[in-house]
Parts: sequence; structure tokens; C-alpha cells
Amino acid sequence: MPCKHLAATGCGIYADRPNVCREFLCGWRLFDDMGDDWRPDLSGVMALRWSPAELPAAWKTTPYGVHLLVTGGEAAVMGPAFIDYVARTMARGIPVFLSAASPYIVLNDHMPAGADKAMVKQRLAELYPLLHAARFGQGLWTRIRFLYRLQIDRGYQKYLGKSVP
Ligand code: SF4
Repeated sequence: MPCKHLAATGCGIYADRPNVCREFLCGWRLFDDMGDDWRPDLSGVMALRWSPAELPAAWKTTPYGVHLLVTGGEAAVMGPAFIDYVARTMARGIPVFLSAASPYIVLNDHMPAGADKAMVKQRLAELYPLLHAARFGQGLWTRIRFLYRLQIDRGYQKYLGKSVP
């Protein structure tokens, strides 16, 4: 949701903005492999860099994680740049977290590390509607139902992964 201090030309209290705003660095500025079209107001995606200390236990040994917060709806997720970025990042063994004003999911848990762009596109088309339905502000039971389905999907994908020699 927009900050209450957001004015027409930017931050309305810029000189006195809180520390959390002073220290925040948008992933678009941090990641070399995100071009100009990844600027959040253009892409509909806010990228965050997670340090190892912030990562879930299963990912502590990776150098960083990428959290993609979708504000631009399904169109932002299904764009070729988004799909390409997810496929390339996962292929490098980097965890990719996805949220849509909702709890996040770890995309790596929902598809194999070597997923090509076609598979990433297909899985995003399946997962994003569930994630979007689980967004904050929904009725509690609606949210729980879709989060549960995402957990089932995660377990099923892990099962599939184990069955591959
Ligand atoms: S910099 Fe901070 S206080 Fe200013 S508009 Fe952005 S979020 Fe709000």
C-alpha cells in the first residue's frame, strides 16, 4: 500500500524520512542483471536482495536471495523479462521468493532447478493465481485455503524431485 507520506513529486518528508527508508536499497539498483525495464514503476515488480542471514535455513549457504514483490498483477509475472530472470536466477542456484501482497513462496520449491523458460512460464501461470488469491485483505479462510494449496503443490514438487534419479 502507498505510504501516507507519498506526495505527487515523491516523498513528502524526504529530509526527515525514517531510517528504514534511508537504509532501504531497491533490488533494481543492486542487481547488475536487471535492466532499466525492471524499474519498479515500469515493471510492476519490486525486487529485494536477501542476505544469507535473512534466508530460510535451507538456503543459508547461498550468497543471497531474490525476493520479487509483484504489484503489477499477472501481466507483470507473465512478461518475458520476468520469466527469463526467474529461469536464469534459479539455474544459478539462487532462491527466488515470490509474493503478491501476500506471504511469499519459494519458487525453487515448485519447480526443478534446471527448469527452462517454458516450464517457468507454465508454473508461474499455475502458481500466481493461487498466490494472488492468498493475498492479505482476503477473508481469513480464503487465504488459508489458497496457502494450503500452495503448500500441497510445494510438497508434490519436492516428491517429484525425489523421484528423479
Ligand atoms: S521515503 Fe519513506 S516516508 Fe518517504 S514516501 Fe517513501 S516510504 Fe514514505
